[in-house]
Amino acid sequence: MPDCLFCKIIAGEIPSARVYEDDQCIAFDDISPQAPTHILIVPRQHIESLDKADGMDRSSVGHLLLAAASIARDKGFAESGYRVVINTNEDGGQTVFHLHIHLLAGRPFVFPPG
Ligand code: AMP
Ligand code: ZN
Repeated sequence: MPDCLFCKIIAGEIPSARVYEDDQCIAFDDISPQAPTHILIVPRQHIESLDKADGMDRSSVGHLLLAAASIARDKGFAESGYRVVINTNEDGGQTVFHLHIHLLAGRPFVFPPG
């Protein structure tokens, strides 16, 4: 296993507040929330970043997005709205190099983000 924070969370070696899981991904609360709801959706498979995803990962990446939409509906904020973010590499602000989607909700968001 790579020395990866999110792989350790998936393996249960580091605790997290899980809100959803299935055979392909897990979702848990971000430790430093930037909105009233801030959930990370992470593939069980270690993919470093969106930049490293390839054709083999097509269904896995699609699955993450659909999981985000499903969690938003289940938690009741789909209609009021939410934002999904994938920070990619240095300028994108990525700090954990295991692909993940940020799902943020519970306040209005401006665009473009900072
Ligand atoms: P990014 O900057 O897009 O790579 O996002 C990494 C996210 O992981 C940040 O929002 C962090 O707050 C979050 N994070 C870091 N460590 C943990 C942890 N142990 N549990 C939950 N979220 C974490
Ligand atoms: Zn990993």
